[in-house]
Amino acid sequence: MKVIEIRISQDLCKGCLLCVWACPYGVLEAGKERNYRGVEVPIVTKLEECRACRLCEYRCPDFAIQVITDKDVEKLREAEQMELRWQRRVELAEEVGVSE
Ligand code: SF4
Ligand code: SF4
Repeated sequence: MKVIEIRISQDLCKGCLLCVWACPYGVLEAGKERNYRGVEVPIVTKLEECRACRLCEYRCPDFAIQVITDKDVEKLREAEQMELRWQRRVELAEEVGVSE
């Protein structure tokens, strides 16, 4: 599994740094930039060290951090494909005049 990105929401983060303390691999650090709340949002400094253990996500009380892996992207693509197939079925049903 490959970690593609770690996203931290500028809007949701309250700068408690629990995610920084939770990470056993030192992937995150306290940032220098302040968000609209006046708190320092963490930054990702060593993405290559991330093991996708998601301890940072579990620790965040505000659901402000997301670890995105290649598997997540794959699942999202599959979900989109299923949605497209479903839409196509609805279109076909409309074309042949089948109502629900
Ligand atoms: S997923 Fe694990 S290794 Fe990666 S940043 Fe979060 S706590 Fe650190
Ligand atoms: S735990 Fe969540 S709210 Fe706290 S600093 Fe990390 S991302 Fe921000």
